[in-house]
Amino acid sequence: LHLDRIAEVDGAVHAFLHVDRDGALLQAAESDARRGRGEERGPLDGVPIAVKDVLATRGLPTTCGSRILEGWVPPYDATVVQRLRVAGLPILGKTNMDEFAMGSSTEHSAYGPTRNPWDLDRIPGGSGGGSAAAVAAFEAPLAIGTDTGGSIRQPGAVTGTVGVKPTYGGVSRYGLVALANSLDQAGPVTRTVLDAAMLHDVIGGHDLRDSTSIKQEWPSFTEAARTGASGDMTGVRVGVVTELAGDGWQRGVVGRFDESVELLVKAGAEVVEVSCPSFVHALAAYYLILPAEASSNLAKFDAMRFGLRVTPDGDPSAEDVMRATRDAGFGDEVKRRIILGTYALSSGYYDAYYGQAQKIRTLISRDFDAAFAQVDVLVSPTAPTTAFRLGEKLDDPMAMYLNDLATIPANLAGVPGISVPNGLAEEDGLPSGFQVLAPALADDRVYRVGAALE
Ligand code: GLN
Repeated sequence: LHLDRIAEVDGAVHAFLHVDRDGALLQAAESDARRGRGEERGPLDGVPIAVKDVLATRGLPTTCGSRILEGWVPPYDATVVQRLRVAGLPILGKTNMDEFAMGSSTEHSAYGPTRNPWDLDRIPGGSGGGSAAAVAAFEAPLAIGTDTGGSIRQPGAVTGTVGVKPTYGGVSRYGLVALANSLDQAGPVTRTVLDAAMLHDVIGGHDLRDSTSIKQEWPSFTEAARTGASGDMTGVRVGVVTELAGDGWQRGVVGRFDESVELLVKAGAEVVEVSCPSFVHALAAYYLILPAEASSNLAKFDAMRFGLRVTPDGDPSAEDVMRATRDAGFGDEVKRRIILGTYALSSGYYDAYYGQAQKIRTLISRDFDAAFAQVDVLVSPTAPTTAFRLGEKLDDPMAMYLNDLATIPANLAGVPGISVPNGLAEEDGLPSGFQVLAPALADDRVYRVGAALE
C-alpha cells in the first residue's frame, strides 16, 4: 500500500532518495508469516518505516544527501536500523535530507529538494525534510530522523507531523554518520504522539557500541503517551519560555501556540512564564560548536575510504585527488561550515570562539536547570514561521539558520523535545508546531504533555 503511494506521489514530493521495494515486500511477507504463526515481535511488527539517509543500512545506499557518498553501500546497519529489523518493521527506503544534515529546508541535498506535501512550492523543513514529507504525504506511517539542531522537530512543525528528539544518549548513535557528535540524536517522525512513543520504545535504550549511550532502564514511553491521552494535566507545571516568542515570530504561529497553552490551563496544568536569558546566544554558540565538530568529522571523506573519487588529469598526488574529490563532492553549505569550523578551531582563535561557545553552552544548561527547578516542562512554538517558499532563504544562510532558534537550546543541553502539530496558522493556512521540552532522562514527560495536546 505504501509502496503504491510512493509510486504515485514521490515524483512530486521527492521524499525518498532510494526505495527498497523488494526488501520491503520481503520483510512484510516475513512479518505476515510470523503473524500467521502467532509469533509477532511486538506492536510494530509489519508496520513499514522510512529511514533518513544519514543512518547506515546494510546493503542499501547511504549518501547523507551528498555526492561524496554517492554509490556507498554500508556493510553494516546502524543500531537504530538493526533494532527496527529485529522488531519486524519493513524498511521502505532512505529519505532525502540536506547534505550531511546541514540545513533547515532540504534544499541543500545534492539530489534536489524535497517538497512540502501541504504546498509543493514550499519547503518541508530540514535537514530531515524527506522523513517528515514521507510521513505527511502518507508515503510511510513512520520514519526515523536525526536532530542536531532541530532537524526532526522543525520539519515536524512545518509538515504537521510529530517529531521527537530524545535525551542525548537515549538512542544509539552507532551507524549515524556524525554531523556533530555532541549534538546528534536520532528519533521518531510520525503522525501521532502514541506512534512516536511506540517507535521510541523500539529504537531506544543502551547500546554497547555507543560510548555516549546511557545505561539505565527507561520507562515505557507508550505508557506515558497513553496517560497523556486522557487529557488530564492536573499537577503538571508548564513554563512558557519568554525568549522564544516576540519580534520576528509569525503572528499566526504564536496565535495557535497561545491557544494551546490555554488548553493546557483548561486541562488543569499550572502555567507560568519562565525566562532563559542565555537562549538568545544559543544560535551563535551552535554555529561555532557545530562547524567545529563537523569539520573534523568530514575530514574522513578523503577519496580513499568511501564513495566518490575524482582523479585529476596528469600525474596527481594523493593530495590532488583529495582536493578534487572534496571540491566536487561537497556542496556550498558543507564547504562553508568546514571553513567556519576549521577557523574556529585554529590555534590562537580557539579561546575566542570555540572556548566561548562552550561557556555559553554551559550557561544554557544552567538556564534549563533553573527552569526545571520551577516547572516540569518548557514549551514554545517549534519554529518561528510556517513553511517558506523554495528558494526564499537559499542565498541567505543567516535567515536559514534562524529557523532553529527554538530548537537548538535542547541540543546544546542534551534535553529531550517533541514537536506536535498545532493547527494551521491563520494567515497562510499552513501547519505550525508546539514544542515541549523536558529535563534530560524525562522523555516520558514530552510524550505525556504531547499526547494531551493531540
Ligand atoms: N538546521 C540546523 C543546521 O543546519 C539543524 C541541523 C540538524 O539538526 N541536523 O545545522
